[in-house]
Amino acid sequence: MPPRLHVDRPLRDLGPAFELPPGAARHVQVLRLQPGAPVVLFDGQGGEWSAQVERIGRQSVQVRLGDFVDVDRELGVPVTLALGMPANDRMDTLIEKACELGVAAIQPLVCERSVLRLAGERAERKVAHWQAVAVAACEQSGRTRVPAIAPVRSLPDWLADLAMPPAGLRVLMSLHGARPLAELTRGAGGAVVSLSGPEGGFADAEERLARERGFVPVSLGPRVLRADTAPLALLAHLALIAAEPR
Ligand code: SAH
Repeated sequence: MPPRLHVDRPLRDLGPAFELPPGAARHVQVLRLQPGAPVVLFDGQGGEWSAQVERIGRQSVQVRLGDFVDVDRELGVPVTLALGMPANDRMDTLIEKACELGVAAIQPLVCERSVLRLAGERAERKVAHWQAVAVAACEQSGRTRVPAIAPVRSLPDWLADLAMPPAGLRVLMSLHGARPLAELTRGAGGAVVSLSGPEGGFADAEERLARERGFVPVSLGPRVLRADTAPLALLAHLALIAAEPR
């Protein structure tokens, strides 16, 4: 398969031959592609284009667009993962894996017991970095839409802004969750929003607040999963159900 490159502008508007924006151009140079090399371009709006590298300058790369392919490799169910951000590079890994598994959006949250407490410019820089991680994962995994990494918010603020009643399924991953996940998600066809805690877990008040906003507590089993494992386990479960023939 030719290398897939994300272009952060609508490809339809760019014409048959154009210069790649800096991010995609750098990618071509890192891969040491030569003129004539086939590439696949996508802009995150759905579908992808076959294309060919035409000219490589010092700073610039010109490509020629070929055919549009109306391919869809997205999950049938839009899944949003809202989570107490794990610290270190665990969040990078989580975003990469969640994108591969088909996540629709990621909402990083600061909770009462969060180790990672990002705000202001530091938070903005981190979100931009995570968005780039998401783009790279989409290039690699064949996705045609790039999940949005939302700005960092505090858990209570985010909960307060959620529409009521819930439009789809809201799942609270809880160590006190009585219901097994499969019972709840069997036949889930609409949007799913999952909420999971940071390394230190949720405070009781946070779980209460989430339940008030329509989140149903579920258990992922008797073992304690890490903050970066729990959301991926749920997403993998939903992704595999969605992939089954109906
Ligand atoms: N040390 C914390 C554990 C936090 S695990 C404590 O004892 O509370 C991080 C998050 O992952 C939890 O807040 C929860 O949302 C989710 N999680 C981990 N294991 C889970 C399980 N078995 N079932 C449901 N949610 C789980």
